[in-house]
Amino acid sequence: MPLALPASMLLPLLIAPLASAASVGLAYLFCYGGFEGPVDWAMNTASHGDRDRRVVALTFDDGPDGARTPALLDALGELGVPGTFFVVGKQAEAHPELCARMVREGHELGNHTHTHRYLPLASKQSVARELAAADAAIAAATGIVPKLVRPPWGGRSPSNVRAFDRADKKTVLWDVNSYDWKDLPPLEVARRVVDRSRNGSIILMHDGGRDHTGTIAAVKILVPELRARGYELVTVSDALT
Ligand SMILES: [Zn+2]
Repeated sequence: MPLALPASMLLPLLIAPLASAASVGLAYLFCYGGFEGPVDWAMNTASHGDRDRRVVALTFDDGPDGARTPALLDALGELGVPGTFFVVGKQAEAHPELCARMVREGHELGNHTHTHRYLPLASKQSVARELAAADAAIAAATGIVPKLVRPPWGGRSPSNVRAFDRADKKTVLWDVNSYDWKDLPPLEVARRVVDRSRNGSIILMHDGGRDHTGTIAAVKILVPELRARGYELVTVSDALT
């Protein structure tokens, strides 16, 4: 005899997966980070540059850091590579001289909010304040108001992206995650980046938030490797044009 459940028992069984699928879908739409999704297609955010150009952009988040950013800038200078630094406003206030050095040495700066806040859960006013305070700190240090923004952890809601647009900023994510924050051996970080890079790739790395000595070692390995494969290393704004 076939198993037959009464309707009163079937309904919750049907609703439970639908409800969990719906909540996963909502979380995806409103709180996701780190990969391209419908919000990006609809709102013109960038996780990579022109796929027809043999260029890649190295990006460094969460600095400037008083101990590690100078060594990274030294390494980039020796390699002749312009980087793009998504700086945290509070860090820029603490180390304005490092922001000034970045600009002097040909790097690009982007806004990574003032306090590294997760924006999808913040009010509109808080998002605007985060952007404005970081802009002010970066402008005070460099005289330049950044045209790029990267939301912390890549978390962006449609409302966040509209706020970035209103602040006249291009929202920049990434298509290659180095996972340098996982304390992997530099060779592994470098191999991961080189293997995953494509024309126009934007590569996520870090110079702040924690010890990123390994990131600097990885950069010294991956830059010659990328060049050997024919890539030119450029800033994000250059990769996007
Ligand atoms: Zn960050």
